[in-house]
Amino acid sequence: MAELMKQYIDEAENALLHTYNRYQVVFDKGEGVNLYDIEGKKYLDFVSGIAVFALGYGVKEYNDALKAQVDKILHTSNYYYNVPAIEAAKKLKAASGMDRIFFTNSGAEAVEGAIKAARKYAYLKDGSTDHEIIAMEHSFHGRTMGALSVTGNPKYREAFEPGIGNIRFAKMNDFDSVLANVNDKTCAIILETVQGEGGIYPAEESFLKQIRALCDEKDILLILDEIQCGMGRTGYMFAWQKYGVKPDIMTTAKALGCGVPVGAFLMTEKVGPNSLVAGDHGTTYGGNPLAGAAISVVFDLFEKYQILDHVREISSYLEEKLDMLAGKYEFITAHRGSGLMQGLVFDRPVAPIISQAIENGLILINAGANIIRFVPPLVITKANVDEMIAILDQCLAQQ
Ligand SMILES: *Cc1c(COP(=O)(O)O)cnc(C)c1O
Repeated sequence: MAELMKQYIDEAENALLHTYNRYQVVFDKGEGVNLYDIEGKKYLDFVSGIAVFALGYGVKEYNDALKAQVDKILHTSNYYYNVPAIEAAKKLKAASGMDRIFFTNSGAEAVEGAIKAARKYAYLKDGSTDHEIIAMEHSFHGRTMGALSVTGNPKYREAFEPGIGNIRFAKMNDFDSVLANVNDKTCAIILETVQGEGGIYPAEESFLKQIRALCDEKDILLILDEIQCGMGRTGYMFAWQKYGVKPDIMTTAKALGCGVPVGAFLMTEKVGPNSLVAGDHGTTYGGNPLAGAAISVVFDLFEKYQILDHVREISSYLEEKLDMLAGKYEFITAHRGSGLMQGLVFDRPVAPIISQAIENGLILINAGANIIRFVPPLVITKANVDEMIAILDQCLAQQ
């Protein structure tokens, strides 16, 4: 590694809290589906900032929209209205079919709001404050205390207990284990439509439909976390739309702003007026003019570039090629995923393979210790897939 890069990394390790084991690269800029480090080395990006930069880097319309908003005004306050947020809300409503939106700054914050909305809904029904939420094992909902409390990875939670309390964990795609945790106090069931960090496990259609029916029968709220799997990643704007299983509350973030830190939780009209009201919830930055401008132009560009159609087409090509790798190397034990959210499961830790790939000009990320996750920009082409497979194949051959 060249001197300058090493110097920056040393400075970072001196100043920043050591909460990440970072790969040894300092990025400088992006163009299309490529990233460049500070020495000008080019990398093919199959991570997109973890399912964030869906449109690729340096898209002129996106950059121009943000620059225009910067020159106009960046921030006002949620005590007043602003046009970019109103435009963003209209487009998000239309894309999701949900009725009410609260804009946040991040995914975890959207999950916090979703939990509060569900608890308030239940509280207004019976006045009690001991309601329970069912979450899934292997789930990931974020790092703040509420989101962490519904995250199904005991390792992430242990040192920070007690969490918010009254959370039970069921097994993904095992309806009996959900039923075993339901009681009169259950106010919500939260799950990712496709689990991301936990290892790329898509929810099965029958499981989602059984949960939806259970929720309808018992007036339990279904919260779908679409922060990673939403915004076109599965070939549908939101992954649940593939199954027609509509949540009562939904969270989104990551690609919603394509790089500007934004998120949102949304609800149907059944929940909206019967949950959070004035004074119950707030945020200084959420839905500010810059955030609104970003979300708004993202929806425009999804339409202009027909992103959903493209994802459906290209993802089958990616799946085919990943299947080929899975068949070629016996240390790859499984391949699963949905759309441009794919995972290869290994019988060993994947960090050394990923480091090698980065060395060879390909950015990949893990999902758990043994899984390589593929969450590229949604605009990748067949040639990009071929290039990725060629580099990865070369790395795997050296294992
Ligand atoms: C990334 C992620 C979160 C947390 O989002 P942040 O913006 O990092 O707070 C929550 N849920 C899912 C499914 C995620 O992938």
